[in-house]
Amino acid sequence: MNKKHIGIIGGGLTGMTAALELLKDGHDITIIEGGSQTGGLAAGFTFEGASLEHAYHHAFKTDYDILDLIQELELKDQLNWFDSSMGVYYNGQLYPFRTPIDLLKFPPLRFWSKFRLGLTVLYLQHTKNWKRFEHVTAAEWMRKHCGKQAYEVIWKPLLHGKFHQYADQVSMAWLWARIHIRANSKEKGDSREKLGYMTGGFHTLIHALEERLRKEGVQIHLNEKVRGVRTAEQGTVQVETEQKTYTFDEVISTVSTHLFSQMLDSKDTTLANYKKQLASVQYLGAALVIFSSEQSLSPYYWVNVNDSASPFLAFIQHTNLAPTSWYNNRQVYYLATYVPHGHRFFTTDEAALKEEFFTYLKKIFPQFSPEQIHNTQVMRLRYAQHIVDTNYAEKMPAHVTPIPHVYLANFSQIFPEDRGMSYAIREGRKQAQLLRERL
Ligand SMILES: Cc1cc2nc3c(=O)[nH]c(=O)nc-3n(C[C@H](O)[C@H](O)[C@H](O)COP(=O)(O)OP(=O)(O)OC[C@H]3O[C@@H](n4cnc5c(N)ncnc54)[C@H](O)[C@@H]3O)c2cc1C
Repeated sequence: MNKKHIGIIGGGLTGMTAALELLKDGHDITIIEGGSQTGGLAAGFTFEGASLEHAYHHAFKTDYDILDLIQELELKDQLNWFDSSMGVYYNGQLYPFRTPIDLLKFPPLRFWSKFRLGLTVLYLQHTKNWKRFEHVTAAEWMRKHCGKQAYEVIWKPLLHGKFHQYADQVSMAWLWARIHIRANSKEKGDSREKLGYMTGGFHTLIHALEERLRKEGVQIHLNEKVRGVRTAEQGTVQVETEQKTYTFDEVISTVSTHLFSQMLDSKDTTLANYKKQLASVQYLGAALVIFSSEQSLSPYYWVNVNDSASPFLAFIQHTNLAPTSWYNNRQVYYLATYVPHGHRFFTTDEAALKEEFFTYLKKIFPQFSPEQIHNTQVMRLRYAQHIVDTNYAEKMPAHVTPIPHVYLANFSQIFPEDRGMSYAIREGRKQAQLLRERL
């Protein structure tokens, strides 16, 4: 096999894993990352003396690719498994939502609704044939099988809170994957769900991966935003950043499908249909308020806030998973929601956003005292979630693009599973294998 100079756009988990794999074939590899650090959506920042992800992250027992990479980088002893706990806030009350007993006791639903909901979830946990769900919306399927009441109380707030104007277009295949995969994140003989989190956060993995790549000769350029990708002479590819122009034999882009589309030559009319296809993949952003406090507010790691009046969809008490001793003995929280790009949460100033989120938090937890907050951080992520609708398989972009020697690998190609770190690693490996077969 000829040694090639391969350029990878984006230093998230997909890009770095593809680099790790292609290194094994002896290629020269350069990663061009627009941000100030590697890790992309899974990257962290220093908060209460530790590295914390910009957005809440955990791993499931079924996340085989991340488990495998953790093993490959000899970090197995840094991965901890914690009991997960979940609650639901509905109609002014917080309820446990962990076990079938919790469901049976759940007062907002009548017995018959609980029975149907329980049976439906059980069926989705066990059925492997997701193809039957692909062309039906989650809203339609859930309404039909769980009944109107369970749909209104449980599924509608979740779908609308997460997907806004796209809520009624989301495929049941997406929801099946969420329920089916989570159900198997358990240890043998234990019925409780286990979630994985690393000592030092997932930065431990990202840092080790970056170190390995640099040690093996991969060039990693940070703070270099790619502006253009085009075919150059003798079948090479030019990648233009704000600082310089690189020439590669092969290029893998791991940025979101929309950003990739903007990098393509606007004068090349042969790409018009391809660009239209890329633009048909819809994305939502995410807005998060992170804070630390002396106060412990909830007994749960995760609370779904099933109220359309709430500015956030999920309340996450991160330190009900990871120990407070990692964070100066303080509690660490995320208040998180998904929003369309035009939403005011992308323009509202940080103080106003925090005020809005904290005001609602006091409704859920009247004992919440903003005076006891130590640190806060606001995060806004533009390409946080793509919309898997009932025609998604047709619009999903391929790994091979119409531009010779240019490939695309990002989370919009993960289907029917939802995006996640482990799937990013799987995509990186898949892309490396594809390139290997074509060289
Ligand atoms: C709110 C939220 C919660 C999540 N929770 C979990 C979880 O609990 N568990 C889990 O497993 N996963 C979770 N994920 C998903 C996980 O973070 C992603 O699936 C994964 O990190 C994606 O990796 P990636 O490399 O494909 O993409 P990204 O991480 O998006 O990487 C793409 C990289 O490209 C760079 N880039 C963009 N534009 C340019 C440019 N013009 N030039 C150069 N570089 C550029 C970006 O800076 C970025 O580093 C969550 C994601 C979000 C948003």
